[in-house]
Amino acid sequence: MNPRPEVLVVGAGPAGATAAILLAEEGFEVTVLDRAHFPRDKVCGDGLAPRSVGVLRRLGLEDRLTQAGHRPLAEYRIVSTWGDSIRAGLPSYGKGPPYAYVIPRREFDALLVERAREAGAEILEGRRAERLIPGTAAAPAVETEDDRGRRLVMRPRVVVAADGSRGSFSRTVIPSRHLRPIAVAMRQYLDGVEGLDGALSFFLDQPMLPGYGWAFPASREGGPVNVGAGMTVHALKRRGLKVRQVMDWFMGPDSRAFPYLAGARPVGPRAAFPLLIDFPRGRRRRGAVLLVGDAGNLIDPLSGEGIGYALESSVAAAEAISASLHSGDLRELAGYERGIWKELGPEFLGAYALRQFLQQPWGNGGMVRLIERDEALARGGMGVLSNTVPATWLLKPGLWRKILDPSRVRATIKATRPARERNGGAGAAPATSVKAPR
Ligand SMILES: Cc1cc2nc3c(=O)[nH]c(=O)nc-3n(C[C@H](O)[C@H](O)[C@H](O)COP(=O)(O)OP(=O)(O)OC[C@H]3O[C@@H](n4cnc5c(N)ncnc54)[C@H](O)[C@@H]3O)c2cc1C
Repeated sequence: MNPRPEVLVVGAGPAGATAAILLAEEGFEVTVLDRAHFPRDKVCGDGLAPRSVGVLRRLGLEDRLTQAGHRPLAEYRIVSTWGDSIRAGLPSYGKGPPYAYVIPRREFDALLVERAREAGAEILEGRRAERLIPGTAAAPAVETEDDRGRRLVMRPRVVVAADGSRGSFSRTVIPSRHLRPIAVAMRQYLDGVEGLDGALSFFLDQPMLPGYGWAFPASREGGPVNVGAGMTVHALKRRGLKVRQVMDWFMGPDSRAFPYLAGARPVGPRAAFPLLIDFPRGRRRRGAVLLVGDAGNLIDPLSGEGIGYALESSVAAAEAISASLHSGDLRELAGYERGIWKELGPEFLGAYALRQFLQQPWGNGGMVRLIERDEALARGGMGVLSNTVPATWLLKPGLWRKILDPSRVRATIKATRPARERNGGAGAAPATSVKAPR
């Protein structure tokens, strides 16, 4: 074990493993440590949207997914608060291929770790980064401890903090108020889910706003469906609810997902996990420590998707680290944080604005009813959800002129609705409320 690698990566999730692969392939000495042993579970919807797949291709991993029996899933479904159900293909607009995968994180993350090891990174499992020793951000000294209590201080030139939404290490790097979870979600694998027809499905039932439920079919034939529900911490507190109760309601008879879930059986236990969705308050660098993925508050506020941003931020971090180690000037690391704001800032801020709108029943209900009239519009809407189309697309006046064009409205009132599901999806279950126990 080298206590002085050029790069120390804390956390071997998608973010950390990606940075390790890219830097080790360039020939840098990279050590990755994770407090867990792989394969390990991570509570997630397991959805790898087109942007994630785009980076996986670049890492040479998509072939391994298909060799392992995973097939692409090319459609999304949205069931709105008003009960309209649309299903449409995924557009990619150059940000990855027009499809997704749904792969259990236990399997996916282990694959990335294996790839990082093959690239030449040293992977230390069962070792946790306790803290950044105060005052060492510019020349990092990281206290670590393994499962058996053996301590080691590591002194790399650069640290990549990829310890996720629950990362205790990142909290010692930057003030913890920047790392407060905004939402929490629960996941359960189920067998016996009927009728999803290969579409990643989102349910915007009124009692779950501002949040939603999902049912994602597995990419591998016969695999369990990943079902979950999430809500903001603020809304849960205000209503005196636990996320478990939101999940119970979502899987119960009043939810619009029930027709799909009625005959389902649980596979394994339910589990919940926090989401750090606060992009504007996120800090992504301190001295020679770069924060990537969830640790850098890079979760989409609209969909909760974070794997794509974990991968993309790590690509950007690896580029900045490579440039600064080559030049010997670590000040170049600042380019990473600036680049994230430039690349992702408008996207995230647009997504916040759209979230305010879509968390209103009339907002998502009206939007789905309008876009269901046109396959191209429906695909655009799915693109927003899967982050291939920027949320600002929906704010374009030209789009609204198209949506609200009187001749289109007249024609579509009479015509069929190409994107709308003929059976109306899950039907029009009444919007009841989630109740806290007495
Ligand atoms: C319920 C739920 C559903 C979600 N669904 C989706 C989805 O369908 N699609 C999507 O794109 N995103 C989804 N997300 C978000 C996604 O899970 C995260 O964005 C993604 O895991 C971020 O990857 P990461 O590598 O930054 O962090 P993580 O995946 O959390 O990895 C962090 C790693 O760091 C390790 N670690 C933590 N602290 C330390 C320490 N001190 N020392 C050493 N190691 C440490 C952990 O063991 C872990 O392996 C979901 C999130 C939740 C909670």
